[in-house]
Amino acid sequence: MSPSTYPDVMDKLVSLCKRRGFIFQSSEIYGGTGSVWDYGPLGVELKRNIKDRWWNAMVRARDDIEGLDAAILMHPRVWEASGHVAGFTDPLIDCRNCKKRFRADDPKIKGTPGTPDAQCPACGMKGTLSEPRMFNLMFKTFMGPVEDSAAVVYLRPETAQGIYVNFLNVQQSTRQKVPFGIAQIGKAFRNEITPGNFIFRTREFEQMEMQFFVDPEGDHMQWFEYWKAQRMAWHRALGLAESRLLFHQHTKEELAHYARAAFDIQFDFGGTLGFQEIEGVHHRGDFDLSRHQEYSGKKLEYFDQPNNRRYVPFVVETSVGADRTTLAVLVNGYREESVEGEAEGRTVLGIHPSLAPIKAGVFPLVKKDGMPEFAEKLSAELRKSFPVFYDESGAIGRRYRRQDEVGTPFCITVDGQTMEDGTVTVRDRDTLAQERVAADRVGGIIAERLQA
Ligand code: ATP
Repeated sequence: MSPSTYPDVMDKLVSLCKRRGFIFQSSEIYGGTGSVWDYGPLGVELKRNIKDRWWNAMVRARDDIEGLDAAILMHPRVWEASGHVAGFTDPLIDCRNCKKRFRADDPKIKGTPGTPDAQCPACGMKGTLSEPRMFNLMFKTFMGPVEDSAAVVYLRPETAQGIYVNFLNVQQSTRQKVPFGIAQIGKAFRNEITPGNFIFRTREFEQMEMQFFVDPEGDHMQWFEYWKAQRMAWHRALGLAESRLLFHQHTKEELAHYARAAFDIQFDFGGTLGFQEIEGVHHRGDFDLSRHQEYSGKKLEYFDQPNNRRYVPFVVETSVGADRTTLAVLVNGYREESVEGEAEGRTVLGIHPSLAPIKAGVFPLVKKDGMPEFAEKLSAELRKSFPVFYDESGAIGRRYRRQDEVGTPFCITVDGQTMEDGTVTVRDRDTLAQERVAADRVGGIIAERLQA
C-alpha cells in the first residue's frame, strides 16, 4: 500500500482530544494504562452519537434485525467452540534479560531469535531472545472465590459469540423468519501485543456487530453483496470522504478456512498509517452455529415451516469498531485553515452535525444590557431539544474558535439588535455565513439542519 496523500494529524488530535475533553489516557495520574483510553464529556457524546446512528440504521429502522445486549462473561466452552482458545494467538518473543516481549515479526529484531546472535531491540543484549511462542490474546480471569483452572473465564474478545449462542432464543421469542439479523453493541477485550495509534488499536474497545442469518440454499451471496453496499453507504453517510474509503478483499492467506468471502472496509487515516480496516463484512458459512451445536450438544437449527425443512443458517456478519470509527470521524473532520482578514487561523472539527457533541453555542455579545439574560433563556429553551453550550466570557471571535475546534455546527449570538427586535445571528461552522433570524425560530431551523 502506498503512503497516504492525507497528512498525519494523529499527534494534533491526541492533544486536542485531551485539551477539550474528548479522550484522556486511562489512569493518567498513575502514569497511564497501556493502550486504554477514557472518553471525556465531549468524547462520550461523539461516540454515543456514532453508536446511535448505527443502532438506528441497523435495528430501529428495520423490521428484520433484532437488538441484543449479551453479557461480557460467557461459559468458557464458548471460546473453545469459537476457536479462540486454540487459535486467537500471536507468536511472541521474550527477552530473558529485560523481560520485554516483542511480536515475532517485529522489524527491530536483528538476527534469529533463540540463537546467540539475536539482539534484543530494547536492552541491546545478545543471545537473550527466546524462540517465538504462541501467546493468546484473550484476557483471563476467575469466576467465583477459587482461583483454579476450573474457574477460568475470559473477557470476550468479540461480541459476536453472544449473538450465536442466543440465535434460537431471539428467533423463537420474536418469531422472526430467515433471513433476519441480530445486532449488538458492546465492549470487547484483546491483550494486543502491538497496540497503539491512539484509539485505533486498544486493549478494551467497543464493537458494533450484526449477524444476518440466511438460507444456505437461497440467495446468500446476494445478501453478502447487499450488506457490503449497505455498510459502505453507512460510512459515507457519516461524512467520511469517499476518497478515504475502500474495500479490501481478503486474500487466500487472509481468508479463514470456513469463510466463503470476506471484505474489509478500510479508511485512510493519513500519514504512514494510511488505509486500515474499520469494518469487516464476512460470509462465515455455517461455521459458528455448527460449532456451537457440536460443543453444546444443543441443536441450533432453524425450522422453515412452510417448506418443512430444518437447517443451520449461513451467516453474513458485519463487524465495526465504535472507537475506530470515532477515530476515523475525528481524522476525517480535522482541519486547520486561515481566515480572511485575520492573522490567526482556526482549527475546525468538520464532523457531521448529527455527530457533534454540542449542536449550538449560545453567546451574549457583551455581558450587559439584558443580553446574558436573553441568551440564557434561549439556551434553556434550546437545551430541551439538543445539547447547547452557553458562554459569555471573552472576545466573541475566541468563543467562535473554541466551538469550531470541537465541531459545534452552529453559534447563536445575542446582540444589541436582539434587544430591539428579538432577532439573533446564527453562524455556520463551515461556511462562516451569519444569518439573522427571529430567536423563536432558531430551534426549528437548527433541528431541521441536524436532520439533513
Ligand atoms: P485488526 O486486523 O485491525 O486487528 P481484526 O481483523 O482483528 O482487526 P475484527 O476481529 O474483524 O478485527 O474486529 C472487527 C472490528 O473491531 C475491526 O474492524 C475494528 O474496527 C475493531 N477492532 C478490532 N480490534 C480492535 C482493537 N484492538 N482496538 C480497537 N478496535 C478494534
